[in-house]
Amino acid sequence: SPVRSSVIIVGAGISGISAAKVLAEKGVDDIVILEASDRIGGRIRKDEFGGVSVELGAGWIAGVGGKEPNPVWELARNSGLRTCFSDYSNARYNIYDPSGKIFPSGLAADSYKKAVDSAIRKLSNQEANHDSELSEAPSTPKTPIELAIDFILHDFEMAEVEPISTYVDFGEREFLVADERGYDYLLYKMAETFLFTSSDGKIMDNRLKLNKVVRELQHSRDGISLTTEDGCVYEANYVILSVSIGVLQSDLISFRPPLPRWKMDAIEKCDVMVYTKIFLKFPYKFWPCGPEKEFFIYAHERRGYYTFWQHMENAYPGSNILVVTLTNGESKRVEAQSDHETLKEAMEVLRNMFGPDIPDATDILVPRWWNNRFQRGSYSNYPIYFNHQIFDNIKAPVGRIFFTGEHTSERFNGYVHGGYLAGIDTGKALLEEMMEVVTRKNESQAFL
Ligand code: FAD
Repeated sequence: SPVRSSVIIVGAGISGISAAKVLAEKGVDDIVILEASDRIGGRIRKDEFGGVSVELGAGWIAGVGGKEPNPVWELARNSGLRTCFSDYSNARYNIYDPSGKIFPSGLAADSYKKAVDSAIRKLSNQEANHDSELSEAPSTPKTPIELAIDFILHDFEMAEVEPISTYVDFGEREFLVADERGYDYLLYKMAETFLFTSSDGKIMDNRLKLNKVVRELQHSRDGISLTTEDGCVYEANYVILSVSIGVLQSDLISFRPPLPRWKMDAIEKCDVMVYTKIFLKFPYKFWPCGPEKEFFIYAHERRGYYTFWQHMENAYPGSNILVVTLTNGESKRVEAQSDHETLKEAMEVLRNMFGPDIPDATDILVPRWWNNRFQRGSYSNYPIYFNHQIFDNIKAPVGRIFFTGEHTSERFNGYVHGGYLAGIDTGKALLEEMMEVVTRKNESQAFL
C-alpha cells in the first residue's frame, strides 16, 4: 500500500515551492511534491529562442522602489538575477497609425490624459456605487488611438489608473528579468535550501515527482488519497493544492466527495486573464532603438490587435527580437490558429508601421497558456472592488485540503510575489493546524 506522507503539495510553481519550504524549515520534511509537467516553475518558464533565453510566462518583477521591499525583488537581488528597468512612460509617444505615421506627441499626450481621467472617473463611480448619471459619464473609446490607449491602460494595468496594491505597497517601477538562467532560477535557489540538489543545479530529491498529473483527490476526516494519470496512488494527512484558478474551474481533478457549493461558487466567480507574448526573430533591426523607443504601439480599429510591442535590445543587445503582447479574445484566437498564420498577421502589421521593405521574421514563438491543461489561462483577474467573502472562500481549506496560488493572495493576485507570499501564508496556516491537532491529542491523553 502507498506510503503516507504528512503533506502532499500539488504543483511546483512558486507558491507550491514556497509553501513546501516553510514546512521543511519547521521540520515537516516527509512531504511529496507532485508536478504535472516535466519541470518546476509553472507560469515562470523560460525557453531558448533566437539565441537567447526568453520568458514565456512572468517576465517582470512588478512593484519596485516603494516604501516596502518587494520580496521577489529581494530574492532576485540575493541571487544576482540580471534585470533591466522598463520605462513605459514613453510608450504613448510611439503610437503608430496603420499608415506608419507616429501620432504627434501633443495629440498622444492629450488622448492619454483623457483616457486616464475617464478611467479614474469610472472607478470612483464604481467605488461610491454611484449611478453613473450623477457625475460625468466616462467616455467609451472609439478611434484607433483611443482603443490602443484603452488597451494599454487596462490590459497592462498601468498604475496611474487603479490603486493596485502591488504598486501602492512596493513602488511603481518594473524590472524585466533578462538573465540566461531564467526567472525560474529564483525557484531553484529556493528549492535547493530544502531539496537535495546536485552541484550543477539539478534537483535530485525523490520527494519532488515530475510528470505526475493528479486526476483524483479523495478526502475524508482521516486523510487524503491522490491518484495520478499514470495510476499511482499517494496518501497524506494533508494536501496543499497550488493549481491555478483555471485548472480548478476545469475538470482535470475530480474531488471525491465533490467540493462544497460555497467553494465551487467562489472558484467560478474568479475571471481568468489570458496574456500572450509572441516572440519574433529577425535577421536585422529595422525598428528605432534607444531608451525611449523600447515600447511602441500600433493603433488599429480592432481593440488589442497586435497593439503592444517591445524590442529586446535593452535586455539582449543584438538579439534582433521583437515581442508583441495579445490578451484574452485575441490570445485565444491566435492560440487556435497555426503559427504560420500568426506570423503573416504580425508581418502585415509591422509592414504597416515600418514599410514594405522590412525583412520577414525567421522564427516565431507563440506560447499557449489558454490551451495548456495544467494552466487554462495566465492569471486570475479580480475586479478592483471585490467581495471579500469570495476571496475568503477561494482561500479557505476544505477539511484537510489547503489552497494556495497567486489567486489566493488578496493583495497581490496575478503576480509572482502574490504566488510567493500566498505559499508562505498557506504553509504557515497548515503548520498551525498541525500544531493544534497535536495540542488537542495531548490534552485528551492527559485527560485519560
Ligand atoms: P503556477 O505557476 O501555475 O503553479 C502551479 C503548478 O501546478 C504548475 O506547475 C502546474 O503544472 C501544476 N499543476 C496543474 N495541474 C496539476 C495537476 N493536476 N497535478 C499536478 N500538478 C498540476 N507575474 C508577475 O509578477 N510579473 C509578470 O510580468 C507576469 N507576467 C505574466 C505573463 C504570463 C504570460 C503569465 C502566464 C503569467 C504572468 N505573471 C506575471 C503571473 C505569474 O506568473 C503567476 O502569478 C505565478 O507564477 C503563479 O504561481 P503559482 O504557483 O500560483 O501557479
